[in-house]
Amino acid sequence: MKIVHTKHDVRDAVAAARAEGKSIGLVPTMGALHEGHLSLVSTAAAECDFVIVSIFVNPTQFGPGEDLERYPRDLQGDAAKLQPAGADLIFAPDPEQMYAEDACTVVSVGSLIEGLCGAHRPGHFDGVTTIVCKLFNIVQPDRAFFGRKDYQQLVVIRRMARDLDMPVKVIGLPTVREADGLALSSRNAYLSDEQRAAAPKLHQALQAGVGAARGGATGAQVERVVRDALAQEPLFDVQYVQAVDANTLQPLGEGTGPMAIAAAAYLGKTRLIDNVAVED
Ligand code: AMP
Repeated sequence: MKIVHTKHDVRDAVAAARAEGKSIGLVPTMGALHEGHLSLVSTAAAECDFVIVSIFVNPTQFGPGEDLERYPRDLQGDAAKLQPAGADLIFAPDPEQMYAEDACTVVSVGSLIEGLCGAHRPGHFDGVTTIVCKLFNIVQPDRAFFGRKDYQQLVVIRRMARDLDMPVKVIGLPTVREADGLALSSRNAYLSDEQRAAAPKLHQALQAGVGAARGGATGAQVERVVRDALAQEPLFDVQYVQAVDANTLQPLGEGTGPMAIAAAAYLGKTRLIDNVAVED
């Protein structure tokens, strides 16, 4: 496994792999890797001949006052985890490598970013789609792997690839969780012991919503169930709870049907997100 820092070196490695007839898989990450990321890498390694993992804390997807500076960075630790997971190449550029000083092109999807996290993190998804588009152009992967943990992101990237005819298959994989249900996240490292003990209640609240939805509850009723469950934990400062159509991400309101139930809540300064799917 090699670590490279420039687009030029990535393109050379991809050209060499292609010359050997290999298929290319890409797993974009911001590093501080955990088992959730590694599950994407192992699936990529099972499905593709040459797996590239990008590690880049992308400044354009962080808003003012968010955790860009304190976001955990550990390239050597990440590399030690990636080799056994089946990665062939790590691409770890610095911001200057990725953005020209006068860069002014932005890739932006439309209505899908208006709700959920998009409503609370202005500009976030434009940063995500622009960097992922750039990574797709640099690597030109056959397949790219994303976690359902960031459900809106997955739907948005899928739509971008479809709308812009990008020749890549976007694959979404299940959320990896701790034994107590907490979704693995690099940001869990910020939690105090007390906050960590409260954190799994986010998933438990969403599961209560799943139960209600299976019993025939409408989107609005499901949201109430989840909000009531979250209200039992005083440490949560809830940002949103939404039951949306799993494909369009539009709020279901008084409707039912295939549903994603998503929530964001702060524990202190740490913002946690999670979501669950309810099949019809
Ligand atoms: P990040 O480094 O947070 O930008 O995440 C990189 C990729 O890993 C994204 O596609 C995430 O959705 C995915 N991911 C993060 N946490 C998990 C998890 N707990 N289970 C599965 N995938 C995850």
